[in-house]
Amino acid sequence: MTAAAGLLRRLPSVDEVLRTAAAEAAVTAHGRTAAVAAVRATLDEIRTALRDGLPAPAWGAEASAGPESAGPESIALAALARLAAAARPAVRPVLNLTGVVLHTNLGRAVLAEAAVAAAAAAMRGAIALEFDLATGRRGERDDHVRGLLRELTGAEDATVVNNNAAAVLLVLNTVAKGRDAIVSRGELIEIGGAFRMPDIMARAGARLVEVGTTNRTHLRDYAEAIGPRTGLILKVHTSNYRIEGFAAAVPARALAPLARERGVPLVDDLGSGSLIDLARFGLAPEPTVADAVAAGADLVTFSGDKLLGGPQAGLVVGRKELIARLNRNPLKRALRIDKIRLAALEATLALYRDPDRLAERLPTIRHLARPQADVMAQARRLAPAVAAAFGPAVAVEAVECASQIGSGALPTATVPSAGLAARPRAVRGGGRVLSDLAAALRALPVPVIGRVADGALVLDLRCLDDDAALVGALAALPTPGTTTEPAR
Ligand SMILES: *Cc1c(COP(=O)(O)O)cnc(C)c1O
Repeated sequence: MTAAAGLLRRLPSVDEVLRTAAAEAAVTAHGRTAAVAAVRATLDEIRTALRDGLPAPAWGAEASAGPESAGPESIALAALARLAAAARPAVRPVLNLTGVVLHTNLGRAVLAEAAVAAAAAAMRGAIALEFDLATGRRGERDDHVRGLLRELTGAEDATVVNNNAAAVLLVLNTVAKGRDAIVSRGELIEIGGAFRMPDIMARAGARLVEVGTTNRTHLRDYAEAIGPRTGLILKVHTSNYRIEGFAAAVPARALAPLARERGVPLVDDLGSGSLIDLARFGLAPEPTVADAVAAGADLVTFSGDKLLGGPQAGLVVGRKELIARLNRNPLKRALRIDKIRLAALEATLALYRDPDRLAERLPTIRHLARPQADVMAQARRLAPAVAAAFGPAVAVEAVECASQIGSGALPTATVPSAGLAARPRAVRGGGRVLSDLAAALRALPVPVIGRVADGALVLDLRCLDDDAALVGALAALPTPGTTTEPAR
């Protein structure tokens, strides 16, 4: 009889496994139904593996130690591990050490404590969402941020929707449905995630009229395209690319007088739309919303969770009469923002009243403004602990690197930063060592996300607020040298 056949025959029953202490713990934590199902599934998996002559998956380590260890207790432990893995939330916190501060796939802006508190309060109880506390009558949800947005941008009025894609859709549908929307060929952007300006136009019911060429568009191109069917002129911030060399574009400031003269609304989709001049934090200049309003745009659209540093939201500021039309469009109701994010947005906007303390209070600005020397000191401090956690297969050192802002803000600008680079000590199989390490970091209970480039795994520490968070996360790595498999 083969070892596998012997093992199969001696496999404990479901009941035997359920009588163990580990199974009891599984029942307490996850309920009887789930625990029994997990024990069954674990036993089935082991049986199938043994029949196929494979190492049993759930207890590979014990199996290699000998068949005796396939006892009820170790099977119960495997079932418990299975339940714990399934119970982990899919939407869970990670450490963003990618060097991209506003990483769309990692949730963009990290909210300020004030915004988190406001959102939590809005979740826990009833709030005056569409209720005017002064009169006791019905209010509007935009009222909570209208005043702040007017104050911070100089615009006459403001409204808020689900995200900036929704804001652009609402504006086009309200102002240019069945009419022409004039856009420069150099600004027909794709933002990613299927947000392509020509497609959004079509969905909004506007006819796209392209003017100029990919690299050069002049004021006369716009002037010649304006006719009786024109609904609006749209300026789009080329967020994620830059046309360099023999290039010309018409700034909103130069377009505004033409639009006014011909009676056509000028809309400026800023994308990121910073509320303050980022130059004060040593970053490359990005047009502010107030600049766009002052330049004469009739409507300006921008995101809540890019440079603004708030929750996902789409903000529209501009002329009162146009904002009123947006609010009368039934699409506005379909695209509206929820109470939780509205509360977080109000709290975030309120922080901009005190720009001097913004870097301290708003994580997005704090992360962007961190001096390289500060990040480098953190890298040097953490190097020994990270080297110990990564084990002898890689060398870990503090290095200079370049962070990106992300989310299409300042696409070609990088921010000097620092981090920890792990390089394989052996040349052969080095790529494998790095991809295994990156996978093991992603598999941690608090996943650590870095980037692999130029033969190194780099952890850019710009967005790491707390040394202990990284050390704590890495403590769950398998002890170096014992296994090359990522922890599951
Ligand atoms: C990011 C961006 C959008 C989309 O904004 P979301 O808030 O992600 O929906 C639209 N236009 C421009 C120019 C952008 O940069």
